[in-house]
This record gives sequence, C-alpha cells and structure tokens, in this order.
Amino acid sequence: MLHNATGVSMEVNLLTSLSDNIRIDRDKCSACGKCAEVCILDNLRLQLSPCRHACPLGMNCQGYIHYLAHDKAAKGTETIRESTPFGGILGRICSRPCEAACNRIKVDGEAVAIRDLKRFLSDRTEAPILYPTGAESGKSVAIAGAGPAGLTAAFILRSAGHRVTLYDREPTPGGLLRWAIPEFRLPYECLDRELAFLKVMNVDFQGERTLGQDLDLEGLKQQFDAVLLTLGAHGQAKLGVPGEDSDHVIPLLSFMKMVRQGQTPSLGQKVVVVGGGNGAIDAAQTALRLGTRNVTLVCLEKRHEMAAFPWSISEAEEEGVIIHNGWGPRSFHYKAGRLSVIGFKKCTALCDAKGCFCPSYDEEATMELPCDTVIVAIGQTIEEGWAGIVHNPVTLQSENPKVFVAGDLASRAGTVVEAMAQGKEAAISIDRILKGEDPEYGRRNGRAVEIDFSPDWSRARSRARVVAPVLPMEVRKGFEEMAKGLPYEQAVAEAERCLGCGIPFGLRTCWFCLPCEIECPEQALHVEIPYLLR
Ligand SMILES: Cc1cc2nc3c(=O)[nH]c(=O)nc-3n(C[C@H](O)[C@H](O)[C@H](O)COP(=O)(O)OP(=O)(O)OC[C@H]3O[C@@H](n4cnc5c(N)ncnc54)[C@H](O)[C@@H]3O)c2cc1C
Ligand code: SF4
Ligand code: SF4
Repeated sequence: MLHNATGVSMEVNLLTSLSDNIRIDRDKCSACGKCAEVCILDNLRLQLSPCRHACPLGMNCQGYIHYLAHDKAAKGTETIRESTPFGGILGRICSRPCEAACNRIKVDGEAVAIRDLKRFLSDRTEAPILYPTGAESGKSVAIAGAGPAGLTAAFILRSAGHRVTLYDREPTPGGLLRWAIPEFRLPYECLDRELAFLKVMNVDFQGERTLGQDLDLEGLKQQFDAVLLTLGAHGQAKLGVPGEDSDHVIPLLSFMKMVRQGQTPSLGQKVVVVGGGNGAIDAAQTALRLGTRNVTLVCLEKRHEMAAFPWSISEAEEEGVIIHNGWGPRSFHYKAGRLSVIGFKKCTALCDAKGCFCPSYDEEATMELPCDTVIVAIGQTIEEGWAGIVHNPVTLQSENPKVFVAGDLASRAGTVVEAMAQGKEAAISIDRILKGEDPEYGRRNGRAVEIDFSPDWSRARSRARVVAPVLPMEVRKGFEEMAKGLPYEQAVAEAERCLGCGIPFGLRTCWFCLPCEIECPEQALHVEIPYLLR
C-alpha cells in the first residue's frame, strides 16, 4: 500500500505501472520499428500502419511520408532506397495496395496519395542512390529472367556480397517493364536510371541468352551455388475462335513489344482490343497514340469485375476508348483477305457453380463490330517447359534444393510489386542457404507486430487529396509520360494528410535497459525511469 501526495492510500501494481513508461514523440517517430527490434525483453511492439502491412515489399510508407511532411525529404528518399532501388518505377505503375488499405479513407473517403509521394521522393536526383555491397562471399548465383523479380533478387544478392550473373533472352534488362508497359506510363529514362545499379554493383548482365536454348539448367546448377528462375509468363493465350490466325489479329505482348521497339504497326482506323486487364487498357491507349481513330475494348467481365486498375479504365475512356462489358468473341469475318468484322456473343456468367473461370453465353444475343485489327489481350500463360515448378510457398525453393522460382513464373499474381516481393523473398532464402542458415526460420508467422488497432483520429487535418497533374488531353498524342510528378509544396501538403497510424508501444514490464532509447534514430522514444535508477 502506498500513499499519494495528499496522503490518500492507493493500491499500486508496480509491474503494471512499469509497462506504461515508454513515451513516444509522434512528431519525431517515423515508425521504423528499430526500438521494437532491439528491445531485449521483447516488451516493445510496433503497431504496423495498414499501408505498410499491405505493401508486398513491406515498405515503410508511413516513414517516408512522415519525413516529407516534416520537411526532411532527403530522409524520405533514403527510407525508400533502403527498401528498393526501384521507387521511381513503383511510384509510376504500382498497383497501390497500400492506398486501398489507408486509414485516411475512413476520414474523407480518399487515401493518402502514397504512390505519388513515393514517386516524388524517388525522383529527387539530388539525393545519392544507395548501392550497398557487402564483403564478397565467394558464392555465386545465376538468375534467369531480368524482369522486376530477377532484378530485385539481383540487387539483394549482390548487396549481400554474392556474385550474380543475370541472364535474359532480350538484349537489355527490364522484362515487361521495358517490353510491355508503355512509355507513356514508364519512361525509359526512369527505367534506365534505376537499372543503373546493375553496372555500379557489378552484376554480370548477359543478354540474348535463352534458358532452354543456349543455356541449360543442368549447366547452371553445376556452375553456380544457386539458380533463380524468374522467366515471367510470356505465353500468349488464344481465343480459340476460328479465323484468329491472321496478321490482323495480334497478341498483346507482340503488339506492345513492336511499339516499344519503335516500330509502327499498321493498324488501320478501327481497332478492337479483346480483354479487361491492364494490358488491354494499355494496348487500347497505345493504339490511339499510333493514330487509330476508333478504338473499342470488349471484355467478358462486367465493369466492376475488370482486372484493370480503375484509374486506368477511367483514363482510357477519357481519351476516347469505348468499352463494351459482358461480351465474348465468337467469329472473325474477312473481306478480300482483310479483316472486316469481329462478332461477339453475350456473356451471361464468368464462373461456374464452383467459382472456377468458365464463361457461359447466350448464343442468341450477338453483336458485331467493324474492325481493321484485333488485339488479343486475354492474359499470359507460362511458356512450355516451365509451368508447374513445385516449390515451397514461403522460401520459393523448388524440389531441387539449388533451384528457386519467383515472380509471374511462381505465382500468377501479375503485378510488378508482387513480382519484386517474390524476388526479394527468394533472394533472402538463397542468401540464408549460402550462409548455412535455415531459410524457413521465423518466416512462417510473419513479424511480431500489432495490426488490429485504431489510429489517433484526432491527427486528421481536413484537406482534400492532392491530384497529380496529367498531360492535357490535346497533347496526349505521342508517348510522352502522361502523369506528371507533384511539385514540392503539393507533395508536402499531401504528406500532411497522413495520420501517422503506426507507433511502438510497451507490451509488458520494462526493465529500463534502454537500447530502444539509445538506438532510436530520431530521439523519439523516452523511457521514464524512477530518478534514482537513471
Ligand atoms: C501490357 C502490360 C501492362 C502491365 N502493366 C502493369 C502495371 O501498370 N502495374 C503492374 O503492377 N503490373 C503491370 N503488368 C504486369 C507486370 O508487368 C508483371 O506482373 C511483371 O512484369 C512480372 O515480373 P517478372 O519479373 O515475374 O516477369 P517479366 O517482367 O515477364 O520478366 C521475365 C523476364 O524473363 C525473360 N525470359 C523469359 N524466358 C526466358 C528464357 N527462356 N531465357 C532467358 N530469359 C527469359 C524475359 O525476356 C523477361 O525479361 C503489366 C503487364 C502487361 C503485359
Ligand atoms: S494515414 Fe498514413 S500511416 Fe495511416 S495508412 Fe494512410 S498513409 Fe499509412
Ligand atoms: S520510437 Fe524511434 S526507433 Fe521506435 S519506431 Fe519511432 S523512430 Fe523508430
């Protein structure tokens, strides 16, 4: 029993009071989580912000936004570059799972523009790019496929000191970033700037080398300590409709690659794109930029079922692409050897009773569209010989312990950030194995963090989301980048909308050992200690 200053007696549980002695200055804390990592007694936990939790790469979105809002843009840039050298790429074309999870939506219906802020910070050329290279390990890794998954793995493995040889059948690295995603979304200048790490970090890039032709897996397994396959999914699915084998019916990847190589395919004035994903939208907008007047996109899905990003669908419509939802192709018609019409039938359901993709049609309800060219954008498949490689979903190690898989080849998630995240996970596994460590240790259950918590809503300042400028419609003819970056003042204003959701907190008894306070890079954490102890 203790007595307070006025002499009133109080029941005090000393252990409980000792767990409530961590003070965090929210204006300083960047939610990096360092304090929770170094706590000897596992007392501290990080409440992980929903944006960071939703990012497949686990980027500290809250952290870089915090720095920007506090006029420390350079530290924001550094925070991004600690996670990935590809912030400019992701800042332009990422699928933004972080924004879908952002708590700000519950305040005024609009997420913080996290992707635009990432782009703003990553494009700052005044900040040095970090190229960490560990001491040479004497181990070597072959990576086949230089898309987002292979590039991310190359960066991480080289940073860990392993010798990396990156093979690709194309002459230059980038995968679909270079050969499919159009330049008006991702300019070469950004891609080349961020792929410069290959040279600086001495990754041995060998272009025009095709696995299964002039390279073989057995040879790589003998020559290297580990092999990572990141070949993507480049098989082009067919419609299965009579008449599609013609020069006027072009598969998506062939079309996008031709354009990115600087060729101008002759499309005529009426183009129909079949498909409802991002590739289909990109193809439609590309056809417009090549001078086609009449571009129509037709897909099986209803509007809300389309796989394309909603913002891309709206952009395409603004530019004049006409979209017909709920139709599947049934016939091609030719006149004097030239394609003249494509016929469709009404799609009544996308999936069967078990929920499997199995479209059904009303054969009586039909539609015909005149066309000169059809672009088939109904998805990619894994190329023959590489499908179905059995692998551990956590470590990405295949049944052959030396061989790993990642990216679109391993999972059909189909986004750049997910491919990068898989490249990262595979690289972590390879690094651990090369160091003689257990690749699974601590990975099945994720990090010890708190995700079910309420942020401090009182921090919300009333302000609408800042909208990044886009090229005016009348000049959107060529391939100039469509979305422009935010100017500094607007980027800071947008960063200030962030609620700073995540924060560390004391879980149980604190024994005042203090590494949390000492290691905190922002001097944001203070441990309250009875004065006699400190
Ligand atoms: C038109 C289009 C637009 C898209 N837009 C977006 C978008 O805006 N945002 C988004 O998040 N995602 C988008 N995606 C999806 C995204 O591009 C892919 O999910 C991602 O590129 C997959 O990365 P990856 O590294 O697994 O494979 P890839 O990027 O496909 O790279 C695989 C690499 O392997 C090489 N390769 C293949 N076979 C061999 C072989 N036998 N030997 C040697 N090398 C080989 C290829 O040349 C390629 O360089 C788009 C896709 C398309 C087609
Ligand atoms: S408000 Fe800020 S910290 Fe919270 S989820 Fe959104 S971006 Fe992340
Ligand atoms: S208190 Fe310091 S160490 Fe802990 S999360 Fe915040 S900035 Fe990082």
